Amino acid sequence: MISIKNSNEIAKMRESNRIVGLLLHKLRKYVVPGVTTWELNKIAEDIIYSEGGKPAFKGYSVPGLSPFPAAVCASVNSCIVHGIPSKSTVLVEGDIIGVDVGVYKDGYYGDAARTYMVGEISAEAKALLDITQEALELGINAAKVGNRIGDISSAIGNFVTAKGYFIADNLTGHGIGRKLHEDPMIPNFGIAGKGPRLRKGMTLAIEPMINIGTNRVQEDGWEYFTLDGSLSAHFENTILITDGEPEILSIY
Ligand code: MG
Repeated sequence: MISIKNSNEIAKMRESNRIVGLLLHKLRKYVVPGVTTWELNKIAEDIIYSEGGKPAFKGYSVPGLSPFPAAVCASVNSCIVHGIPSKSTVLVEGDIIGVDVGVYKDGYYGDAARTYMVGEISAEAKALLDITQEALELGINAAKVGNRIGDISSAIGNFVTAKGYFIADNLTGHGIGRKLHEDPMIPNFGIAGKGPRLRKGMTLAIEPMINIGTNRVQEDGWEYFTLDGSLSAHFENTILITDGEPEILSIY
């Protein structure tokens, strides 16, 4: 069932997502050659606590894996999502790094991701980031009352495939609220006019995960990689369905 948030719940969603957006904005300046993904995680965790939130990903459990050990996912280059921050992962000029963060505060979750450039990056990598960010914008623009989930999915998928890029298999966006992952699933490809209808008060995390060379993924514990080693990018925002334009909650 897809939950509809009342005004009190929406206020709490705004607050947890405000912290997410602020954090992702502040973190950008620390993403430089020489920093480790562990250091970025520490900075992020400190910001979350200083804003009165709790890191939602830390301790997150799924069957068969040990609880996620960090506040953020830090996914470098061919890592699509769920990269584990590490003291031995040192960013170098030309890398791209996806940072995904969840924040829990006062009963409600926020969730968003950005892919950052480390110094100067290749034209190929920059194009991937631009396409993925534009795909997210197109998906959000389709998130209007009366439309269906398939309208979001097809807006993302049709654009990405027309540009010659690939949608990572088995990874989707999701509803969000009292739980980090709620109904509905929001695939990054689909058929316009299909799926659950969008209603005012729904809160959704839309998150294209786009690869240069293949849709196929390789899992290593928590971490998802492109099967061919090509670059992957990830942008995500939590949005609120309104009477009019969708409202992005997780942006600074
Ligand atoms: Mg998410």
